[in-house]
Amino acid sequence: MNVPFFDLRATHDEIHDEIMAAVAGTLQRSNFILGPELEKFEAEFAEYCGARHCIGVGNGLDALRLILLAYGIGPGDEVIVPAHTFVATWLAVTEAGARPVGVDIDPATYNLDPSLISAAVTPKTRAIMPVHLYGRPADMAAINEVAAKHSLVVIEDAAQAHGATAFGKRAGGLGGAAAFSFYPTKNLGALGDGGAIVTSDDEVARRAQTIRNYGSAKKYHHTSLGTNSRLDEMQAAVLRVKLRSLDGKNEARQRLVQRYLERLKRIQGLGAPEIDPQMKSVWHLLVVQTPGRDALAEHLASHGISTLVHYPIPPHLQEALAHLGYKRGDFPVAEQAAEEVLSLPLWPEMSDSHVDRVLDALEAWNGFGRLS
Ligand SMILES: *Cc1c(COP(=O)(O)O)cnc(C)c1O
Repeated sequence: MNVPFFDLRATHDEIHDEIMAAVAGTLQRSNFILGPELEKFEAEFAEYCGARHCIGVGNGLDALRLILLAYGIGPGDEVIVPAHTFVATWLAVTEAGARPVGVDIDPATYNLDPSLISAAVTPKTRAIMPVHLYGRPADMAAINEVAAKHSLVVIEDAAQAHGATAFGKRAGGLGGAAAFSFYPTKNLGALGDGGAIVTSDDEVARRAQTIRNYGSAKKYHHTSLGTNSRLDEMQAAVLRVKLRSLDGKNEARQRLVQRYLERLKRIQGLGAPEIDPQMKSVWHLLVVQTPGRDALAEHLASHGISTLVHYPIPPHLQEALAHLGYKRGDFPVAEQAAEEVLSLPLWPEMSDSHVDRVLDALEAWNGFGRLS
């Protein structure tokens, strides 16, 4: 039995008829941009996140970028970002014309280490942009405290954390504004690109809503220099269907991870994540860590098990961001993570026997503790 990394078909096969009905309804109305399905999805997703507003946009990167624009953050400003994340977190800042300032992560959670933030704050710092990486909420209580001390805005990159909770409060309602991605493989995924801004700040919501639609609140009246980034009706209609099963799918991931961890924790030389009942992960990814990562991945592949690395090169060492002037050694925890992390197969409909198959192959690996 081969084990794929992820199976996107499984979810869509289950709700095939509901999705087709949502698509058919959209075709019948033939109102494809800024229509009733988007309005309904925005209301439902805002409520889901425990926030006042949701603004559907074209993708997750635009959600982050438009939040920065809505706060008036741009050239001359600095934004604090974690050193271990998908490149989009950093790119959103450069796209807005501001400078991303990296801060290292906590090795236990892979999230921004709040104790390192203050040292990175300068008179130019405007915002902190924590990522809830792999589905686990960042330490928002500590981050919000540092932000308040320095009068900074907190922007959640919640692209991997739909439904994750910190002390019972959902991602999207833990800072000033939050960005979500509906890229197909995210916990809540569209049938293409999509994203959303979630906030309880009326003014930021109003600005973001204007910016996503050519800087116009009233047709042909342009009050700001906006862009075109709107979540379309077809995607909104499909997302409304999929939102109904999000909690169930997240619970399925949590149950599978529990099964994984019972045996993973006993493997010497393999770092495995902890389940934290206060900071409830939605397990966008299940990531383990070992110095012999590449050899382990090859071993698993030889047993028909697919794995991926999220992410092999930290943003500060990417060629595209060389102009920022960072060098190897600047963020040692993030750099070590990039060399050692491995994402194991996980999707909500994964069977117990799939999980056991991965665990059998992991337990059969005798390279732990040795460098590859
Ligand atoms: C996916 C992702 C994004 C970007 O989302 P897109 O919809 O692909 O633009 C941003 N940040 C993180 C952490 C992500 O995982």
